[in-house]
Amino acid sequence: MTVKSAKLEHVGVAVESIVEARRFYEEALGLTFGGEEVLAERGLKLAFLDAGGVKIELLEGLGEDPISKFIEKRGPGIHHICFKVADVDEAAASLRADGYEFVTDAPYEGAHGSRVIFMKPSSTFGVLIELIQEG
Ligand code: ZN
Repeated sequence: MTVKSAKLEHVGVAVESIVEARRFYEEALGLTFGGEEVLAERGLKLAFLDAGGVKIELLEGLGEDPISKFIEKRGPGIHHICFKVADVDEAAASLRADGYEFVTDAPYEGAHGSRVIFMKPSSTFGVLIELIQEG
């Protein structure tokens, strides 16, 4: 076993407009808004909604960013799922040693001071998997 009991943390959804998507999640589904954050250096705006222990992370691109490219290619929709791990560096090193591939060489800073890294969908049965260690 390479990662000890990873827990589903959030589902990342690529949207064209956080304002419009929030209306659906909050008004139609009754989820509670949990804050927004701009990651300027990555060209992204994020919003979090509490879906009962698991979050929905809305991702809106601000220009030259991976989310805008994703939407351009495939339209809005589920972008990634994120699992919480105790130690993201340890988890990544261990998974890499087992032959799993990652989008970047090392974890980096995510929302709310967390550390994150993404696994390549080609090594995870087609799903972009994010690993997060809470900050
Ligand atoms: Zn995420």
